[in-house]
Amino acid sequence: MSPLLPFGRPQQHWSIARRFFYAALVLIVFQSLGSIVISNQLWRHYTSRALNQIVTRNLDRPLNHVDNQLDSLTAEEAINCCSQKDYQKLLQGLVLFDNKMLMIDGSAGLVALQGAQRIYTREQLESYAKLVRNSPDRFAISGWGTPQAVAIKSVKLTGGEQTGSLIFVRPIYNMALYGTLNRVKTISELVLMVSLWVLLAACLLLIFRPIRHLRTKFSGIQLDDLDSASISLEKQPIELLPILSEFNHMVSRLEQAATNQKQFASTISHEFRTPLTVVSGFIQSVLNRADDLKPQFRDALTVANQEALRLNRMLSDLLDLSRADNRQLRILQEPFAIKAACLQSLKLARAAFTNPITDQLAQVEEVEAIGDHDRLVQCLENLIGNAVKYSEPDRPIALDLQVDNFEVAVTVVDQGQGIANDQLERIFERFQRAEGVTLRQGQSSSGLGLSIVKMLVDGMGGSITVHSVPGEGSRFTIRLKRFL
Ligand code: ADP
Repeated sequence: MSPLLPFGRPQQHWSIARRFFYAALVLIVFQSLGSIVISNQLWRHYTSRALNQIVTRNLDRPLNHVDNQLDSLTAEEAINCCSQKDYQKLLQGLVLFDNKMLMIDGSAGLVALQGAQRIYTREQLESYAKLVRNSPDRFAISGWGTPQAVAIKSVKLTGGEQTGSLIFVRPIYNMALYGTLNRVKTISELVLMVSLWVLLAACLLLIFRPIRHLRTKFSGIQLDDLDSASISLEKQPIELLPILSEFNHMVSRLEQAATNQKQFASTISHEFRTPLTVVSGFIQSVLNRADDLKPQFRDALTVANQEALRLNRMLSDLLDLSRADNRQLRILQEPFAIKAACLQSLKLARAAFTNPITDQLAQVEEVEAIGDHDRLVQCLENLIGNAVKYSEPDRPIALDLQVDNFEVAVTVVDQGQGIANDQLERIFERFQRAEGVTLRQGQSSSGLGLSIVKMLVDGMGGSITVHSVPGEGSRFTIRLKRFL
């Protein structure tokens, strides 16, 4: 169970990749937002400065022109012309190429020329006048960033406060330029964001590709193939070098240990088998020849003989495995009569076990399969032995042979305990037993039988599969290629 936090939430174990990714993500989001805000501010500042300069330049010329004309008025004349009509006359008197935009804001109120009134509403003109009145440098821009943007500039009339100001309004035609610049800005922001993401992806790839590569390599390491487990240090990232060189040392130590272990298993099984065969042979000859043996001695010797035989079988299994590990196990891949091999296995099994063992071999034609006759008999012995071991003594067992155009399939069927689905893969591994399957009293198990069967069947170029239902029984099927 995963450890719980005080609030009952399970603790999360984040990978380095995940931590890096989230940290980078937060960083990028903040960085992007920050850069957008900053660039917007800078953008506004610089474009408004640039536009102001352009617009002011365009406004200054007509205004200077007007100013020059106003200079011709005396101060008195200017002060005296304070009624709307006077202003109107004054405006009309001024010759200005762009007079539509001209108005006067003074003691007589706002006076605009007809042309200006045609383009702008009274409210707009008033708001322009208000804007420029409140602006310290007598310059203002209204509707910034929109196509209706205008620049407003005012000059004081020579008459002073009472007379008021001459106001000039001019659309900012350069807004088209503003729009283009704005698009360039948006595109550059997008490019920045995309390049940041590409950068992040590239970082992730560069950092984690070697790690993923190593993980794949590690997961492929097999105990019986440690020769190829060492990892070349060439072109590896410098941070990983100490770990990898430690790993390579560990592999060579493991290799040495595995060789020693295989050697040990092979020596032990070989050395034990000979005396055991001798012991079993002597017991057998005593049992056969001594007619006057007391029944309790006969029983004791029979048990001793059975145990010696069991030990002998186990040792030959171990010997097979260690030979296979050292690639010294010879498994034939030659044509042999499959039905004959099945019959031989049946004969041995019926002699050894009390369970009824049925077959349908009489209805099957003899064909040749590719493999090893003796090894197949050994496999079937193992499978039938298991069927007996994990069934009640009276439950029937069946051996079924199917032949088709390309392969032969031999199936051992029992009505025993069956095996849970999630255990089916592990039972073919060495020293593994299925959880939930129990042994009857007096039975023993090493967990080696099926791993040997699988190794032998693979060596014959065939395959083994199992189908099992707990409480109902199991079917183990060996498939071999048919000799054509
Ligand atoms: P062993 O039988 O010596 O333990 P095996 O490698 O032959 O070793 O089998 C591995 C495990 O698979 C057994 O321990 C048992 O749990 C399970 N098993 C094998 N054959 C059967 C069967 N016919 N019915 C039920 N369980 C089986």
